[in-house]
Amino acid sequence: MVQYDYDVLYIGSGHGTFDGAIPLAAKGVRVGIIEADLIGGTCPNRGCNAKITLDAPVVLSRTVTDMQGIVDGQVTINWPGNMAHKHEVIDDLPDMIGGLLDSVHIDVIHGRGRLTDAHTVTIGETVKTAENIVIATGLRPHRLDIPGSDLAHDSSDFMNLTELPQRLTIIGAGYIAMEFATIANAAGADVTLIMRGDRALRHYYQPYVEQILTDLTERGVKFLRNTQVTAIEAIDQGVTVTTDNGTSIASDWVLDATGRIPNVEDLGLEKVGVAYTQHGISVNDQLQTSVPNIYASGDVIDKVQPKLTPTAVFESMYLSHKFAGESDAAIDYPAIPSVVFTSPRIAKVGISVTHAKENDTYTIESHNVLDDWYRHVNKERFGENQLIFDAEHHLVGATEISDQAADVINTLLPAIEFKFTAEQLGRLVPLFPSIGYSTLGEL
Ligand code: NDP
Repeated sequence: MVQYDYDVLYIGSGHGTFDGAIPLAAKGVRVGIIEADLIGGTCPNRGCNAKITLDAPVVLSRTVTDMQGIVDGQVTINWPGNMAHKHEVIDDLPDMIGGLLDSVHIDVIHGRGRLTDAHTVTIGETVKTAENIVIATGLRPHRLDIPGSDLAHDSSDFMNLTELPQRLTIIGAGYIAMEFATIANAAGADVTLIMRGDRALRHYYQPYVEQILTDLTERGVKFLRNTQVTAIEAIDQGVTVTTDNGTSIASDWVLDATGRIPNVEDLGLEKVGVAYTQHGISVNDQLQTSVPNIYASGDVIDKVQPKLTPTAVFESMYLSHKFAGESDAAIDYPAIPSVVFTSPRIAKVGISVTHAKENDTYTIESHNVLDDWYRHVNKERFGENQLIFDAEHHLVGATEISDQAADVINTLLPAIEFKFTAEQLGRLVPLFPSIGYSTLGEL
């Protein structure tokens, strides 16, 4: 029988890997992880954790503004201080995750892994073999193919800016564009956001998205709709961004936030016959690629589920149970929520309002949650939600715009995932007063 170096060898050390690899190795399975960059991948080092830390003073400054007269004085964001705090919060995460890997005797091999056959990966001069291999290489920023595109920056650069640019131009109107426009505007930058179409955050309920656009416009963000960037050119002081409608925008810094693309190149996928598309690696319902002992996990998968950290964690845990021999079932994704961390937030889960409107079996209840006394405590200015029920009146979807939208959707998750009946909901006794109490009271 062939003796491999590992039972499971992961390429990439992000959430698509480590959440599941740690309990797997703790059960005695021999695990190796190859990582070319920082342990933990995008989310801890260049994504979620960094962004939410930079956003914290924005939330505080919004609350202070809303509560003027109750508290006096305004908050100004100290950008270098905010950045230093971000470093304090996230810089130890690779070591912390590395320590967890070490504690269960996972080998971490630093370098770029390339498949040479279905069981072999080379990392420079090093060769490692494994019975099963998991590709979890994630996504990287898409870059516009226009003259001067190298003068633009990506989200990682933004989250390391030691000084806030005075004039910031953002290309794109998705998650990164809208969240970073919110942060930079609150910190005092003059922000212009260029949308190629007429819609921002097109996977979110558009009436709520428009409320965010209106609010940011009132705060000074300039939105250019139906506009394509054609070139970026260096000038004496900063750059000029030229568009197809003849506008030229003088900027100190340009953020290209036009999406993220899968890391599938230079991995030897063609050599060993792992199929992929422009959206990522193709997998079956066991996360198996076209080569049976090679799997994929996390954002690098071509999938319909949102490419978010919780999805990657769920996939890595699924594979963990599978490799431990505990289950051979197909992956069964739960309801996966998502939130855009603008201020206010928009969060959602399950059946969308658009889908519900097109299908008679659903009923939609709209709530103005500002009618609830609890939302007056912090003088919240935004607060609406849409709750979607199936024919048996089970909650199957929800979306909310408010400062507390993420907690509201989290509160509703169990009811959606487990299709709670009215009687079961009646058994839930939330704390009072709390957002959980207010939210469950709507069902
Ligand atoms: P998104 O897919 O959210 O948005 C991309 C934006 O760029 C869209 O507005 C899109 O327009 C626009 N765009 C695409 N191609 C072009 C082009 N050629 N010219 C001009 N505009 C273009 O990507 P992001 O980069 O914002 O985020 C990447 C991913 O990171 C997200 O999908 C998500 O997985 C993750 N993320 C999640 C966050 C969260 O959970 N809160 C926060 C940040 C990132 P159009 O809509 O017209 O296609």
